[in-house]
Amino acid sequence: MPAAELWLLLASCVACVTAAWAAARLVRRRSVKVDHWMPEALKDHTLAYSERTFRSGDDKQVVARVDRAYRGRDGLIVLVELKTRQADRVHPSDIIELSAQRVALEGETGESVAPVAWVVVESAAGRSAHSVRLLSPHVVWDFASRREALLAGTESPHYPATSRVCASCIYRARCRMRS
Ligand code: SF4
Repeated sequence: MPAAELWLLLASCVACVTAAWAAARLVRRRSVKVDHWMPEALKDHTLAYSERTFRSGDDKQVVARVDRAYRGRDGLIVLVELKTRQADRVHPSDIIELSAQRVALEGETGESVAPVAWVVVESAAGRSAHSVRLLSPHVVWDFASRREALLAGTESPHYPATSRVCASCIYRARCRMRS
């Protein structure tokens, strides 16, 4: 092969390698940007479901929307809920939401969901991940039954012990107790 062609071939190879390296760097940077909050325990998991609604499909149907669900190497699904709030903290309602998601996802897909999930809070302090232990399916079904009874008017609500929780309640204007 003439020297000129050899140099041309070599230059093409260098250009290809440089382009591939730059592309790989860009992909890596994007993935770090998206997943830098990922807890260490989930680093070897892969994304299984994202922003999807599940229905448990049983008599007491539970419907819940999953933010993210990751599948471990053992096949177990781990739920992640993303929240944006002023303070970096987990609320009891986060645990109820995730517990309902567990019942709904297990019911629809037949896959097993881990009893420990994660709440990722984005606040002024940045993003941080908190692990939470989920409520049992029986507790979730009890909540679902109580909700139905409240809506049907066959049971009465218990009001909160303090009015602090009412300050940010979206039902405050309609609430007989606090309006
Ligand atoms: S405003 Fe009414 S509905 Fe809202 S938290 Fe307070 S008592 Fe409950």
